[in-house]
Amino acid sequence: MRYAQIRKQDISNGEGIRVSLFVTGCNLKCAGCFNEKYQDFNYGIKWDYKIEEEFIKLGDNNFIDGFSILGGEPLLQGKEMLDLVRKIKIKNDKTIWMWTGYKFEKLNSIQRQIIKYVDVLVDGPYIETLKDSNLMFRGSSNQRIIDIKKTLKNKKVIDWRVL
Ligand code: SF4
Repeated sequence: MRYAQIRKQDISNGEGIRVSLFVTGCNLKCAGCFNEKYQDFNYGIKWDYKIEEEFIKLGDNNFIDGFSILGGEPLLQGKEMLDLVRKIKIKNDKTIWMWTGYKFEKLNSIQRQIIKYVDVLVDGPYIETLKDSNLMFRGSSNQRIIDIKKTLKNKKVIDWRVL
């Protein structure tokens, strides 16, 4: 896994003040992608255990509400992403938000394992013709903000509360 940036205090991606990670690599190639550079799996810095430890520790600050993981495509990062979200939840109870270009219903086995540790999933590809700048936390109106805990419990997609 590689990443392009870490934001220590992000107020744009998710609820409250968050620690954000932008991983690289995505093969969905949405027209109008917000950052085409991040589609390249070779772009950015190699992820390792030391960075992982430092990243998780950033969440220790009391004013941090949680973690946000964006891309690129977080759900194409396999076991390293599974380890990361699992370790975040072992260390503390702060929320994890994640953005994926895949639809919740189409996730494969490892992707489903990853989202078990996620609280809120913004799903679906960016569709330029459905772009709406008034939307919070998503770029186009086809994308959903899903409450994963409630969705898994009720076995049907339940939206996170609308702001
Ligand atoms: S899923 Fe996201 S990162 Fe991937 S091409 Fe679409 S907008 Fe870009």
